[in-house]
Amino acid sequence: MDSAIQDYKQTSGMGGASGYLTIDLRALARNYEKLAAEIAPARAAAVVKANAYGLGAHRVATKLYEHGCRDFFVAQFVEALHLRPILAADATIFVLNGLQPSNVDACASEGIVPIINSLEQWHQWAGAALALGRRLPAVLQFDTGMSRLGLSPEERAALAGLLKAGGAIDVLFIMSHLASADDTASQQNGTQLNEMNRIAAEFPEFDVCFANSGGVFLGEAYHGVLARPGIALYGGAPTAGMQNPMEPIVQLDVAVVQTRTVPAGTPVGYGGAHVTTGETRLATIAAGYADGLPRSLSDRGAVYCDGIRLPILGRVSMDSMTVNISTLPEDRLRLGSLVEVIGPNQTLEDIAREAGTISYEILTCLGHRYERRYR
Ligand SMILES: *Cc1c(COP(=O)(O)O)cnc(C)c1O
Repeated sequence: MDSAIQDYKQTSGMGGASGYLTIDLRALARNYEKLAAEIAPARAAAVVKANAYGLGAHRVATKLYEHGCRDFFVAQFVEALHLRPILAADATIFVLNGLQPSNVDACASEGIVPIINSLEQWHQWAGAALALGRRLPAVLQFDTGMSRLGLSPEERAALAGLLKAGGAIDVLFIMSHLASADDTASQQNGTQLNEMNRIAAEFPEFDVCFANSGGVFLGEAYHGVLARPGIALYGGAPTAGMQNPMEPIVQLDVAVVQTRTVPAGTPVGYGGAHVTTGETRLATIAAGYADGLPRSLSDRGAVYCDGIRLPILGRVSMDSMTVNISTLPEDRLRLGSLVEVIGPNQTLEDIAREAGTISYEILTCLGHRYERRYR
């Protein structure tokens, strides 16, 4: 099966899964409402790229639509194609990565709104409008200092000329993206805001779309008319090193597939990278790096049972890893028991920190072998 389709496949609730990924859609809705209240009267869009950060774009977008969200951002055109039939016609779907020559016509016919990141894309979109004999909507993105996507300062002057000449593109708003919004102390925020304000003054006829999750908490100056939070919706911390104001929406529990007791001096896992120092009770659990638990968790980090920390011993395998359960009562964990990987004892941020990565990567890599349960 094509992987984009696989992403959207909901595992049926047959039980016996290797792990259970529980997604609390009501907490998702509360997070959306919290962000919307934070930025009102500006509106909150939802960034649902990468299958809503791995949590299921269909379920997430449908829930947020019910709670008033009408603007949905994906990264790739194929994601917009999957989402378009799911959402009512008054919902707008935006493609952050913009147009590709091969999807210009489909983008127009499907009513998907591209982010125009270059003059080349502007001309392609204008050409499509001309060919269709009708106006087409678009968002203009400007690079304000991230050097990733968006029109360059040099392209801005030419664009102003094109806009003055009229044409068949309806600009819904102008946007840019913050590179360091999760770091309130970063000078890059102010620099990018000044640049965005300068651009907004050059194009006073258009509204501004600027803040991601971090930007929502940088203050009103960053809000524009529409914010684009992603990670905060899903319970990730919008600002690094600060108390997370968002509610967790994800719990991950993984099944035990074997337990054993080994004496001191026993190697555990590939390469014998861990050797026990005393008699040790072990549990092997049914998730590994193919399920999105990074190999960087080898011999570091832990899972939990009854609030008790169970350290990961040895290397993380593709489909399993081994944890130390010596501190648990004997027989507490047996074949089929579940241990907590993400939940009340270990947040998304905690496990990301242990793995040397960010919450975004943990979420978007969560495996397809877990049974997804929506609450
Ligand atoms: C991913 C993305 C967002 C959402 O960012 P979060 O940090 O998850 O809130 C917003 N805007 C753009 C352009 C993005 O690429």
